[in-house]
Amino acid sequence: MEVVILGAGLTGLSSAYHLEKNNFFDYRIFEKNSIPGGLLKSIKQDGFTFDYTGHLLHINNQYFFDFIDKISGLNNFDLVTRKSSILSNNILTKYPFQINLSGLPPQVIYECINGYIKRKSEIKKAKNFHEWVLKYFGSGIGKHFMFPFNKKMQNYDLKKITPDWTGRFIPKTTLKNILFGALQTNENLIGYNSQFYYPKKDGIQFLIDKLIKKIKQPINTEYEAEFIDLKTKTIFFKNGHHERFKKLITTIPLDHLLNSLNEKSNTCLKQESKNLVCNSVLNFNLGFNKSKLINTHWIYVPEKKYPFYRIGFWSNISKSSTPKNHSAIYGEISYNSKNKTDKQIQNLKETAINKTLELLELKKINIVTKNILNIDRAYVVYDKWRAKNLHKILNQLEDFNIYSIGRYGAWKYSSMQEAVIEGKTIVDDLLKVKQNKQDLNVIPAIKIENEKNNSNHTKSNYIYTKQNKEKFDKDIS
Ligand SMILES: Cc1cc2nc3c(=O)[nH]c(=O)nc-3n(C[C@H](O)[C@H](O)[C@H](O)COP(=O)(O)OP(=O)(O)OC[C@H]3O[C@@H](n4cnc5c(N)ncnc54)[C@H](O)[C@@H]3O)c2cc1C
Repeated sequence: MEVVILGAGLTGLSSAYHLEKNNFFDYRIFEKNSIPGGLLKSIKQDGFTFDYTGHLLHINNQYFFDFIDKISGLNNFDLVTRKSSILSNNILTKYPFQINLSGLPPQVIYECINGYIKRKSEIKKAKNFHEWVLKYFGSGIGKHFMFPFNKKMQNYDLKKITPDWTGRFIPKTTLKNILFGALQTNENLIGYNSQFYYPKKDGIQFLIDKLIKKIKQPINTEYEAEFIDLKTKTIFFKNGHHERFKKLITTIPLDHLLNSLNEKSNTCLKQESKNLVCNSVLNFNLGFNKSKLINTHWIYVPEKKYPFYRIGFWSNISKSSTPKNHSAIYGEISYNSKNKTDKQIQNLKETAINKTLELLELKKINIVTKNILNIDRAYVVYDKWRAKNLHKILNQLEDFNIYSIGRYGAWKYSSMQEAVIEGKTIVDDLLKVKQNKQDLNVIPAIKIENEKNNSNHTKSNYIYTKQNKEKFDKDIS
């Protein structure tokens, strides 16, 4: 086979779609599970729909916007403006923390402002995430939000991870914005997720179901790649099938891929698999016989007494996700699957449910359905080893015409938008299609306003709508 694709999550399916879009059919796609979609699956249970935690579409790219419209029709999605909060010092303050200090205890506000003023901006290049926080936000914002939240979410020593992933995920700010947000409720929406699209029905799997319909070649499910012989370029599957390839697009987790290699003596990729670190996420979904729990889409929870780092409200994200007069939540707990026993995981689940009930002032009898999912590889850890070695590994694989892409294939922190674009980009590269580079640029739909001119009113630079696009086109012309 000319091209083989491993994994039928969004990245693998996007690769298949784009090959076919270029009239290229000399390929096969293999997936280990019985259904395609990877992390983009939605579970229907007792009238509720649960994703593998909230999968919301943050669109800031022209190509992705058009792709979603073409594949599944944007009219089938709601465009939602984020309402998210942070539970800090027993108070719900708005997200992002750094510009929403108002309402917090005066001592906390003082420590955050004082810390920002005295922040270590003299640090030239932050060597780790901890230093990065001290450089851009100072010790107070670090102590009250950035450190405890990220420690919980990453489940890793913050001094051992690099700040490479922070880019669009953690918006920086100015003293003026911090002070403004400390004095009154801040109505500004900043950050990559200030607005999002979500399917009107059927959860995020709606997108995968529509994409699959556009792909003509069969998606071969229950084909788990077990062993790859680099010399003969052959993949051996657990079900006994084997497949030769000229070019391999692989989206399966990189550590699995490396571990499955039978290599020549001049490479030592296999042994690197154990150096790739990630955490796991327990995702608990609860359906309640009560409506209108709280008017927010999700809450970030830095506080130690709760095991989860985030809790989201399905019923506020999509009306169709719960039966009438009911509501539902999802919670996320990060853990290290290597050092937790089954009993400890069971205890974690029970504590999480009890703490959720306590937080929402609900009782066990209010729970009408429950579903606990495990995401074995959830967040890749950006440790120093990764920073030094990842690109070398990916380059070495390319020498064998193996292209390892996607969130776990390229071992990174990335979104659905990137999954689709990576699928397109690799196909364009392999088929030598001339790319319209401008299409793939991340372009702000609303021009970022100059903070100096209007620092109290920083509009989101991550909103992409048809109307905004017209404004953007006008702005840049
Ligand atoms: C907790 C969490 C929340 C997220 N929230 C959002 C969000 O709100 N918005 C957003 O845009 N993105 C979000 N993401 C990111 C999003 O899930 C990913 O970007 C996207 O799903 C990546 O798709 P993928 O195809 O690269 O990987 P995957 O979905 O992991 O697909 C890989 C596929 O390979 C298959 N596979 C594995 N091993 C083998 C094998 N040996 N042989 C054959 N097949 C194999 C798997 O079964 C899977 O189907 C979130 C991710 C997590 C973990």
